[in-house]
Amino acid sequence: MKTIGLIGGMSWESTSLYYSAINQGVKQSLGGLHSAKICLYSVDFHEIGQLQHQGKWQQTADILAQAAQAVEACGADLFLICTNTMHKVAAEVQAAVNIPLVHIADATARQLLTDGITKVGLIGTAFTMQQDFYKGRLTLGFGIEVITPNAKQQNTVHKVIYQELCLGVLNQKSKDYYLAVIQELYDQGAQAVILGCTEIALLVRQEDTQVMLYDTTAIHAQSAVAAALDID
Ligand code: GLU
Repeated sequence: MKTIGLIGGMSWESTSLYYSAINQGVKQSLGGLHSAKICLYSVDFHEIGQLQHQGKWQQTADILAQAAQAVEACGADLFLICTNTMHKVAAEVQAAVNIPLVHIADATARQLLTDGITKVGLIGTAFTMQQDFYKGRLTLGFGIEVITPNAKQQNTVHKVIYQELCLGVLNQKSKDYYLAVIQELYDQGAQAVILGCTEIALLVRQEDTQVMLYDTTAIHAQSAVAAALDID
């Protein structure tokens, strides 16, 4: 079994989901007392969040590059950045190490295409919904059309992530709002909706809606397990 490097803490609320899902995946595949080999480097999200909102992406890249070097030195054979948003600096972080990054958007796109989905809704932080590093990768790399909520909805979805979900606050009003946004994306022609922020699954579950949801945390964790166990 290969060792999985995790760059987490963005936020730690979702990193704990990764830790659990990866271990569950290894247990499911290998059985018994098997568990995942993991090196976790968890950053201080206060610092990252401030730099993001100040547009200081190079500084966030430097922090994550250092974290990637730490998990490589710790023995990781591959690594994950446990957030969608910070894949904005994925190329810089990958360039700092010799071990491969399991890219969250690629893992999600492969799952979508396997399921025959070519037009999808996307919710996540404003960075993820508005900028090209994520949507562009799905469209140019995989031919998947991506639609996002309107500007007002994006603003609310973003605020809930930073002011509630990353703090572990689960609010029924926010859940209802998210479900309405998801339904609207479906009504606009999305065959499914990507939960493109690793905390959203804390709030919204598949059983809450008829719209097919793609939880990036679960998909990303599962692809790490597959890579660690050499499963196709
Ligand atoms: N975990 C979130 C994501 O998947 C947001 C936190 C962050 O900005 O990294 O995008």
